[in-house]
Amino acid sequence: MGKLLKVNNLKKHFHLGKNEILKAVDGVSFHINKGETFGIVGESGCGKSTAGRTIIGLYDPTDGEVIFNGKNIHTLKSKERHTFNRQMQMIFQDPYASLNPRSTVSEIISEPMEVHGLYANKQEQLNRVYQLLEDVGLNRIHANRYPHEFSGGQRQRIGIARALALDPEFIIADEPISALDVSVQAQVVNLLKRLQKEKGLTYLFIAHDLSMVKQISDRIGVMYLGQLVELTESSELYKKPLHPYTQALLSAIPIPDPDIVDQRERIILKGELPSPINPPSGCVFRTRCPVAMEVCSSEKPSWQEVENGHFIACHLYDKNKTGDHDYSQVAV
Ligand code: SF4
Ligand code: MG
Repeated sequence: MGKLLKVNNLKKHFHLGKNEILKAVDGVSFHINKGETFGIVGESGCGKSTAGRTIIGLYDPTDGEVIFNGKNIHTLKSKERHTFNRQMQMIFQDPYASLNPRSTVSEIISEPMEVHGLYANKQEQLNRVYQLLEDVGLNRIHANRYPHEFSGGQRQRIGIARALALDPEFIIADEPISALDVSVQAQVVNLLKRLQKEKGLTYLFIAHDLSMVKQISDRIGVMYLGQLVELTESSELYKKPLHPYTQALLSAIPIPDPDIVDQRERIILKGELPSPINPPSGCVFRTRCPVAMEVCSSEKPSWQEVENGHFIACHLYDKNKTGDHDYSQVAV
């Protein structure tokens, strides 16, 4: 599987005046293979949406680069940029706010096609709208209706149809199911999975907890205060979470199998997420980490591959600091 996207040491800082800098994304690196779904998980305010928006080019990065199909997207010339804009699309969190209430479904889905001058013939464009509606499980009779006439799940389907209008290769889905009822969440995830198979799509799926992201992601990166703290294959992350933050996130989600008695101890994190304006020294997680050590306040843990494809930033796994660490001793 080739790499479709490479994110190298990406930073997005916002200057807030009075020498205050909000480090929303602070040195994030990962890649996404063609055809896979990469999940990014973290609490609200961890910088995951900012990372998504910088990757798609809505923000210029403060530092680092985003390489898509071998090209740095932030240095593209305008013509290449136009082509790139077709290849990468976004699905937004709020299916209420992201659809113009004064436009019909047909107008909403056609808009990107018009911007890119895809069809000279109106009927062809309309046929494409019908096709897209069917692709997302809606119907051509919905084309002339307005967003308020639909449920949350249906509106998210409209948002997905709009994202598909330009036949993109890559879609960033920023918490596409968080605003939906639990009963509808699985339907939208299944739809995204089906579309991925049918159209050969690659996804970056952003989520605020680990419950639903497992159903769709091949690999997952866990983000905390602008940084990735752990990254590995989805199944590995759930079986053997290594970072104390991942362990806490996982302990908070119920085991869905009724035959398994959930005996895990819930790890309650102390305190609030610190401000990204003035993040803790050393390890950004240290103010809430149940197993923080002295070194954690003075030294930033390095991003290291502890096992094949399993990356982590935590001194517990740094052989130079703690000797050979027995992973199994870290309670989950
Ligand atoms: Fe906890 Fe230290 Fe590891 Fe950070 S580096 S997660 S504070 S043990
Ligand atoms: Mg967000």
